[in-house]
Amino acid sequence: MRQLEYKAEWYGRELIKIDRYFPSSKRCSNCGQEREKLPLNIREWECSECGFHHDRDINAAINILAAGLAVSVCGATVRPEESKSRQAGAMKQKAPNSDVRESRPVS
Ligand SMILES: [Zn+2]
Repeated sequence: MRQLEYKAEWYGRELIKIDRYFPSSKRCSNCGQEREKLPLNIREWECSECGFHHDRDINAAINILAAGLAVSVCGATVRPEESKSRQAGAMKQKAPNSDVRESRPVS
């Protein structure tokens, strides 16, 4: 139970970070360290933190995939609640209105 909660929290934090400035190719997919600069002509680089050798595109793809997983985890928990509240609203509109004539004021 505790481990699951911790994971959900971690995903949430990571998602916010990615939304703001998605450093897909500058970020080390192995340890999470971000490079300050990564010029477009550099196709391969080594992480200064863990020394992992990266192919720019493959590293970006791994980071994007991780972001996509975080999004799908959050989306799965939001949808069922939405459809529930919609059904409740539709039920309320089916109220009978047969006695409208009798409540008219007589002048
Ligand atoms: Zn690294």
